[in-house]
Amino acid sequence: MIELRGVRKRFGEAVALDGVTLSIGQGEIFGYIGPNGAGKTTTLRILATVEEADEGEIRIGGTNAVRDAEAVRRWIGYMPETYGMYEDLLVWEYLDTFARVYDLPAGTRDRAIADVLELTDLVDRRESGIETLSRGMRQRLFLAKTLLHEPRVLLLDEPTSALDPRARVEFQEILRELSRRGKTILWSSHILGELAEVCHRVAILEKGQVRAIGTIDSIRAALAPRPEVRIRLLGDAAPARAALEGCPGVVEPVVEGNLLRFQFAGPREAIPELHRRVVSSWTPTGELLESVSRFAGDETTKTRSH
Ligand code: ATP
Repeated sequence: MIELRGVRKRFGEAVALDGVTLSIGQGEIFGYIGPNGAGKTTTLRILATVEEADEGEIRIGGTNAVRDAEAVRRWIGYMPETYGMYEDLLVWEYLDTFARVYDLPAGTRDRAIADVLELTDLVDRRESGIETLSRGMRQRLFLAKTLLHEPRVLLLDEPTSALDPRARVEFQEILRELSRRGKTILWSSHILGELAEVCHRVAILEKGQVRAIGTIDSIRAALAPRPEVRIRLLGDAAPARAALEGCPGVVEPVVEGNLLRFQFAGPREAIPELHRRVVSSWTPTGELLESVSRFAGDETTKTRSH
């Protein structure tokens, strides 16, 4: 439903997006995580067609979002990080104003307003002044407004960052319901934990590049500190490095004289097998001096085999 391919964007010398490629399926709640300045807002603004990319392909629902921006806008609901509210309006007046802006036919406007109030749990606030709403309610009201024209895709820029935990949970519940109804949701945040409960998949953005993409569990595993394995041999360690070539999980083995060291991204139980390979391939007698596997925040494991 959302496709980005090789999207680049610069602001003068600053590179905001450096070749972003993403593919998000219908009904997915997709988390977009990154530190301040990573390029999240720029991505969302490009998808919302309020910013133009310098390069790359952007499609929403299979339609080119640059060539057919007008069509794509009808399918998008964009919630920017900051926005103004009309404090002196009542809740229903606010929604009615935007229903007219979106050209909803007179016959369907009331129904549409009732639906979004129900969905965002604001029915009993229909007659309230906006100035009397809590932050969480305002955020839900802005979401209600964003849903009036029944967008298929929601682009939410840090929608819960200023909410207290309870308001956050309420907001998350609404997103789950929207996903059940088939909406595709791209939700930016800088807190992984916040997205863990709700998102089907997440992408990590850093300096304008997607560094990792997948389920929360796979991302956590990818980000977990890797143990460093150090194997000290009785002679030159270069042949031992060759023995580990192609072994899954062995990351950038380095030889320093008789020391072979590398990070290991596989399961801990697989480490003895790596030792075995090194030992059996290195010398006819299979000797190694010492081996140390260092797990961050964990005990050090030592083995000797000679
Ligand atoms: P935050 O979490 O702080 O909102 P972000 O991940 O949304 O950050 P962006 O706002 O997309 O990041 O910014 C990405 C980079 O592009 C930053 O270096 C920012 O300074 C730069 N940038 C964004 N918009 C503009 C602009 N209009 N003019 C100049 N530079 C910009």
